[in-house]
Amino acid sequence: MDFKNLIAHCKEYGFIFPSSEIYDGLSAVYDYGPYGVELKNNIKDYWWKSMVQMHENIVGIDAAIFMHPKTWKASGHVDAFNDPLVDNKDSKKRYRADQLIEGYVEKIEAKNLKDIEKARARFGDAFDEAHFRATNDRIIERQKQIDTVLDRLAQAMKAGDMEELKAMVDEYEIVCPESGSRNWTEVRQFNLMFSTQLGNIAGEEGKLYLRPETAQGIFVNFLNVQKSTRQKIPFGIAQIGKAFRNEIVARQFIFRTREFEQMEMQFFIRPGTEMEWYHYWKEARLKWHKALGTDPAKLRFHDHVNLAHYANAAVDIEFEFPFGFRELEGIHSRTDFDLSQHQELSGKKIQYFDPELNESYVPYVVETSIGCDRMFLAMISDAIREETVPDAEGQDSVRTVMKLHPVLAPVKAAVLPLLKNKEELTKAAMDVFDKLKLSFICQYDEKDAIGRRYRRQDAIGTPYCITIDFETLENNTVTIRERDSLEQKRVHISEVKQHIQDGIAMEQLFV
Ligand code: ATP
Repeated sequence: MDFKNLIAHCKEYGFIFPSSEIYDGLSAVYDYGPYGVELKNNIKDYWWKSMVQMHENIVGIDAAIFMHPKTWKASGHVDAFNDPLVDNKDSKKRYRADQLIEGYVEKIEAKNLKDIEKARARFGDAFDEAHFRATNDRIIERQKQIDTVLDRLAQAMKAGDMEELKAMVDEYEIVCPESGSRNWTEVRQFNLMFSTQLGNIAGEEGKLYLRPETAQGIFVNFLNVQKSTRQKIPFGIAQIGKAFRNEIVARQFIFRTREFEQMEMQFFIRPGTEMEWYHYWKEARLKWHKALGTDPAKLRFHDHVNLAHYANAAVDIEFEFPFGFRELEGIHSRTDFDLSQHQELSGKKIQYFDPELNESYVPYVVETSIGCDRMFLAMISDAIREETVPDAEGQDSVRTVMKLHPVLAPVKAAVLPLLKNKEELTKAAMDVFDKLKLSFICQYDEKDAIGRRYRRQDAIGTPYCITIDFETLENNTVTIRERDSLEQKRVHISEVKQHIQDGIAMEQLFV
């Protein structure tokens, strides 16, 4: 299914609505609807359980969104959490200069890909892409150009050299995608933090920020948590919460928004052991994704070459979204940067006494950080498909189905009386529904033909449909229709709950 239809599906079936839509919406802000909130909660639940419940040495917290302003000075966000902003004077649209330059590089690469595809068609099975790339003059020339541009971009970004970025935009004759003009302003640094004002203190003193990441709430609570839980290093602190970034360009649905949710875990370790833990968490996190049955071809690692100021190793887990491979999660070896900075700015000692080494030190940190909204988008784009249904007719012969892992599915079971106007059936169905709703989210639906009702459940990803028919009245059995295989099993009413519980159990993801 293409991306536009996916977005339309999310709205039509109550997963995601544009924010304040009656006022024509607010750009890049979205609300999660009745099924969206269930799916999102299930994602968070899976993450929380896999981190906190499954590790005796990881505990959770829920820190406030507002933090002392010095937090953001210490973390480097006040001075360095910037993107290079450039305006087009004709369209009045704003862009990130680095993204414009990356777009220029993508165009060159697209030419290479076109040549490669042509050659592949010509040489067939004998085609060797690596050899072609290494020997074709035009490709070599373009690759050189790409490397030069990317190198220049990386250096300019590292040095915060806005003039150089502007020079590149001009030199490469980059045009505004809206107006087609090259009438650009200067490039300037734009801080991504939203600020607001504390009620009782005027001016700079009372300036507060909405947190741009949840991690700092963990760092400043390191000693509180360690002392109150008597954890010994290595141990971790996990947190799920909202983060805010005033992104210059926010688009691609919920992939990049200005308000989003993060699921972050900081793992505190002995200095010198960071590479060992970095590799451990890299593999553990990939396993977490794969356990959901996500197509493994859509997941890959991408090592960072240009490291952030706080990191000594960093990798992204990328997912192939409908618009290409993009970052879904980051795993970062953050050294002792954050704790040392907080120690310095607060004037409070933030150290751990290691009884085995008989010495105190500022712990090192390996973090895993994933956006809940991006995970949501990854899951629905991997799950959704259009299929023809064997043995069905007319409108019911095609189905849009969300093949979400049952653990994530918003509604676990739908209870459907075969006919609406037969009271014995609706009553029996209601009895089943009332029993099941004590254990998981169910729906009772009696409207429309049974085929239509199955389609509605397929569209929201319900793994089980329980149908109550005339045989139910005779022998207390029902049919359970399985969403993916379309198989129907006859099961005694007393076994229905267990059957569903087995299918939706989170334990199966942890083995
Ligand atoms: P990007 O390069 O895509 O802006 P980032 O490297 O700045 O991301 P991190 O600071 O590492 O991202 O944040 C950790 C995670 O938070 C990301 O992997 C992503 O899943 C999520 N995230 C970051 N920014 C956004 C956003 N604007 N909207 C939604 N999710 C986000």
